Amino acid sequence: MMNVRKKFHPHIGVENPQYHQVSLIYSILLIMVVYFGLIGTLNITLFDAPQIALYDYIGLVLASIILIYVSRGGNIHIACWVVTCALVFVLMAFMHIAKGNNYSLIWLSILPPIAFFLLGPRTGFIFTAAVFAYSGWYLYGNLSAGTVSTTMSLGALFNFIEVATAQLFIFRFYERSRRQAYAQMQKIAITDPLTKVFNRLYLDNAIQSLLAGSARTLQPVSVLLLDVDYFKRINDQYGHLKGDDVLVNVAKTITDNVRAADIVGRWGGEEFLILCPNTTTDEAAQLAERVRQAVGAMGVENELAVTVSIGVATAQQFNDETGDRLLSVADNNMYLAKQAGRNQLVASLTN
Ligand code: GH3
Ligand code: MG
Ligand code: MG
Repeated sequence: MMNVRKKFHPHIGVENPQYHQVSLIYSILLIMVVYFGLIGTLNITLFDAPQIALYDYIGLVLASIILIYVSRGGNIHIACWVVTCALVFVLMAFMHIAKGNNYSLIWLSILPPIAFFLLGPRTGFIFTAAVFAYSGWYLYGNLSAGTVSTTMSLGALFNFIEVATAQLFIFRFYERSRRQAYAQMQKIAITDPLTKVFNRLYLDNAIQSLLAGSARTLQPVSVLLLDVDYFKRINDQYGHLKGDDVLVNVAKTITDNVRAADIVGRWGGEEFLILCPNTTTDEAAQLAERVRQAVGAMGVENELAVTVSIGVATAQQFNDETGDRLLSVADNNMYLAKQAGRNQLVASLTN
């Protein structure tokens, strides 16, 4: 299953919340295709029920169409809805064909885990509650009309209602906590624990996706590499804790001075990287100057002079090496700024 998902949705990595949803969608659809094909054939050959086999084959064709849609990179949100609705259709058809006999109710219990997982805790709750309510109402109607078998009783119906209600709340709780834990874990995985800006893992991925986007739109991409000047001296004179404080303040000052679309992260030690989509060299140099001045002004309040040297690089043409090239040019420019006396910036194009 993982291989099918990887082949058809290479852009949805394990870090993407939709990763397991896509796997579940493939599983359900494949099971449906096999199930409908098998039961349809049995209905024709063994059970002599060609009318029911016709429905099975319609189900087979519909499940195959959805499978083709998903495997061609179709919208996952739409696929989640279509698969859940298809499942409800099958469950309802089964319940109606079985005329509400007890065993058809058991199948309803597979709906909550799937609906909550694919539609989320809120929509999943409403959707599942509606299906359960309809099923309860249908069974009650059949019970009153006496059209269900003797194995269906009012007591069985009450048990169904109780279990369905418990399932709704249990699965809502379960899916909510799963999503919260996932979001928390994802945030920790991409955040630098000291400065709370993005970490290098995130920056590496962000550079790649930014460049992939710009290769399509042909908009320039700029990066700013900042290095705190004489940081070792700050550590030596004031201690590591003060040094940590300075890093936190530098990160905050950078974040306060960039635009909303810019991505700020800690590249390592006392180096920060800013990714600027749709930004020319001139614009990036202006931004770098603003950040340089803002960091310089920090010392006025803290009585501890902090300055940064900044290397700026801009890519306007894109190929497989652009990412590495951007970073090496920015790094090189940053060292040129250091050599020229620090507390300044050097900017250039990569090509
Ligand atoms: P330059 O102007 O050439 O950049 O000089 P520098 O002293 O800043 O450069 P150098 O690379 O020699 O020193 C970087 C120092 O940053 C060394 C390391 O101990 C310190 N450092 C790296 N990460 C942290 C951190 O998380 N906290 C603290 N307090 N210091 C750190
Ligand atoms: Mg350094
Ligand atoms: Mg330094």
